[in-house]
Amino acid sequence: MANALVDRVEQATQRIGRDLWQGLAQRRPSMFEKRWLLDQLMEWAMADESVKVQMFRFVDVLPMLSTHEAVTQHLQEYFEEVRTHLPWAARLAVESPQANTIFGKALAYSARKSSRMMAERFIAGTKVEEVLKSVARLRRQGLAFTLDLLGEAVVSEPEADAYQQAYLDLITGLAPHVNGWPEDPQIDRDEHGWIPRCNVSLKLSALYSQFKPIDPEGSAEGVKARLRPILRAAREHDAFVNVDMEHYAYKDLTLEIFKQVFLEDEFRDWSDCGIVIQAYLPEAEDDLKDLLAWTEDRGTPIWVRLVKGAYWDYETVVSEYRGWPCPVYTEKWRSDDNFERQTQFLMQHHNTLRPAIASHNLRSLAHAMAWAEELDIPQSGWEIQMLYGMAEEQAQLFAERGHRVRVYTPFGELIPGMAYLVRRLLENTSNDSFLRHAYDTSVSIEELLRRPADAALSKAS
Ligand SMILES: Cc1cc2nc3c(=O)[nH]c(=O)nc-3n(C[C@H](O)[C@H](O)[C@H](O)COP(=O)(O)OP(=O)(O)OC[C@H]3O[C@@H](n4cnc5c(N)ncnc54)[C@H](O)[C@@H]3O)c2cc1C
Repeated sequence: MANALVDRVEQATQRIGRDLWQGLAQRRPSMFEKRWLLDQLMEWAMADESVKVQMFRFVDVLPMLSTHEAVTQHLQEYFEEVRTHLPWAARLAVESPQANTIFGKALAYSARKSSRMMAERFIAGTKVEEVLKSVARLRRQGLAFTLDLLGEAVVSEPEADAYQQAYLDLITGLAPHVNGWPEDPQIDRDEHGWIPRCNVSLKLSALYSQFKPIDPEGSAEGVKARLRPILRAAREHDAFVNVDMEHYAYKDLTLEIFKQVFLEDEFRDWSDCGIVIQAYLPEAEDDLKDLLAWTEDRGTPIWVRLVKGAYWDYETVVSEYRGWPCPVYTEKWRSDDNFERQTQFLMQHHNTLRPAIASHNLRSLAHAMAWAEELDIPQSGWEIQMLYGMAEEQAQLFAERGHRVRVYTPFGELIPGMAYLVRRLLENTSNDSFLRHAYDTSVSIEELLRRPADAALSKAS
């Protein structure tokens, strides 16, 4: 790429990033907000690696514990191993209570309450009525939504049926309702016209119990049989369907099924669909090029949600355990750098692969905005996506500045949602997380906005 162009986009990234940072300065959660307290609680609990591991084990098992005795017993067992790392008040709480005393009951109650508060931050509700309230609230704030029913990789066919039925109910129940809302052109239109308000995200592994990369044909048939009715309902009710990306072992099969089904005569001319590409995979570049060629052949555009990837811990641990090559980058700056390169690719092909840039990283988003500016892409020609409960101040700021911001809004029961919750907790407490650095007052705006490759150099020196 010509140096002058690189320099121009970098200068624009810095200018936009600083401007956004100033806009955010007045929006930090104050001490009196529930979120501030929750952030402090998480910060404390996650500061020590060994406490963090026990905390995740406990959060994972908690929804399955039906009595306060079981809660107290698990708390004591898990935290016994890290007793000396706990502050004195927590140590006292964990050490002393007998499960059946008032103190034991109080401990179980407060453990449940804190976990529920954590879950409620990232999960919009368990029932459709609660979700409706959440998406109506988002809309009042000028934000669009995509709904995700919690759950992944089902193990039985009745479970896959239930997942399919839940999406059918969601689309047929929600779409007529939200389609009746007054118009909001900023989130209801793109540069080509009106876009669906009802937007759902689903995971292909939840549509077939035998979803196995070792059997691509059988898996594809099983998934497509349950996916087609959902797509028909979505077309009929003017809803959008996005296919989420899961862990690496499922990636090629997910892309293949997506391409097969959306090339069928029935769906070939439908543009209200999209898929996810993960920039923590070096393969992202080839996958995007392949999608571009496929979409040109199809003749109808699709949306691509660009993310960094939510399974980083899983991929690194599993590949090391099995002695396999690690499929993801192992240095954070490389994922950031690849995200920027793929952002550029999407922006340059935005009429075919419509960009949905999904991140909470101010540098990554400022860089996307700089490319859109450079290529004269209107704000309605691409969108920013964020997760429910994360970076709310940023989402609000981008919306106020005229961007279409779509909030990924998960809902459903906590037990199937545990994997999702644990991924969000891992992300929020990772030392490499942008959001964690952004709330650390010792980290300067220069560091936050540094070009990924330069960040690597400064770390090495
Ligand atoms: C709307 C929306 C939808 C999403 N849908 C999906 C989806 O379908 N599939 C999916 O996998 N994810 C999905 N995600 C999650 C996403 O992949 C990221 O986990 C999350 O957005 C955090 O990235 P960031 O850019 O916001 O933050 P940042 O803090 O800038 O980046 C964190 C990310 O960097 C990467 N990373 C962290 N440490 C390292 C390291 N040492 N080496 C290399 N890379 C590292 C990881 O991907 C990590 O999630 C979605 C996110 C959003 C906002």
